[in-house]
Amino acid sequence: MDYQALVDDVRSDVHAYRGSGKVASYIPALAQSDPHDFGIAIALADGTTYISGDGDTPFSIQSISYVFSLGLALHHVKSALWNHVGREPAGSPVNSIIQLEIEKGKPRNPLTSSGALVVCDQLIGKRGIEETCEELLAFLRERGDAADIAIDERIAMSESRAGAFNRSLAHFIAAFGNLRNAPEDVLSVYYRQCSIAMTCRQLARAALFLAFDGTDPAKGDVVCTPSRARRINALMLTSGHYDNSGDFAFRVGLPGKSSVSGGILAIVPRTGVVCVWSPGLNEAGTSLVGAVALERLVERTGWSIFV
Ligand code: GLU
Repeated sequence: MDYQALVDDVRSDVHAYRGSGKVASYIPALAQSDPHDFGIAIALADGTTYISGDGDTPFSIQSISYVFSLGLALHHVKSALWNHVGREPAGSPVNSIIQLEIEKGKPRNPLTSSGALVVCDQLIGKRGIEETCEELLAFLRERGDAADIAIDERIAMSESRAGAFNRSLAHFIAAFGNLRNAPEDVLSVYYRQCSIAMTCRQLARAALFLAFDGTDPAKGDVVCTPSRARRINALMLTSGHYDNSGDFAFRVGLPGKSSVSGGILAIVPRTGVVCVWSPGLNEAGTSLVGAVALERLVERTGWSIFV
């Protein structure tokens, strides 16, 4: 397959949609994003990457970070993590507090805001904030093959200032005894992990282990066990796109994770990873143009897992 032609063709496919959707405005720094931006990258087994459009432009990875912090937390606390967070789709907006009340402070799954806060808390464990952030950054630099991946502190500050929802969730979870660290420490790591700036190319490269049974096929590193990679993919398929995870599975048919910054990571088992980015979002918070691009890509390649 001519992969460069593929990413270029998909970019042309979505040309008419460019500028559609609404950029997230609740984080002031994200409100300045341009909905016309569009990037796509594919990473393959040998580590080769192909990009088109703004595939080398960094953006804050926001909730795509949940996938990587989940992997690291499972590495540290193993299945004990599931005492603190569930594995069921939420069926409600990403920062919903209602289910937390019903389920006594245990979030439905690790890919909601509340679930990610609990994962963050488990990842911190008994360590400090700095050490935890450094571990996540080192992981992403190694996996993403880019030593300069860093936190965009301007975005982190903007999120913290505008963070009433996440602050409420963290304190609510703490009230049920499901945080071991101070809520403000958990939030500090959380805002910083969401503000890590990466490009489509780096994200696709960083997630390659999820497409190949937990092993980075290009470097030969065992990142996690095959069953853990499979389970992270299962969670992405069922819960990776807010309240439109079902629609994403229906239209695209790949495990993935959407972020409020307009990124979508999509895992193509045994083949590679695709990352798209375009900041205009649909009603549920998934990149509108990004989802169309992945739909076209799957039509062109037949890469859906539901062959
Ligand atoms: N930092 C963002 C928030 O918690 C992440 C949201 C997202 O990407 O879904 O509001």
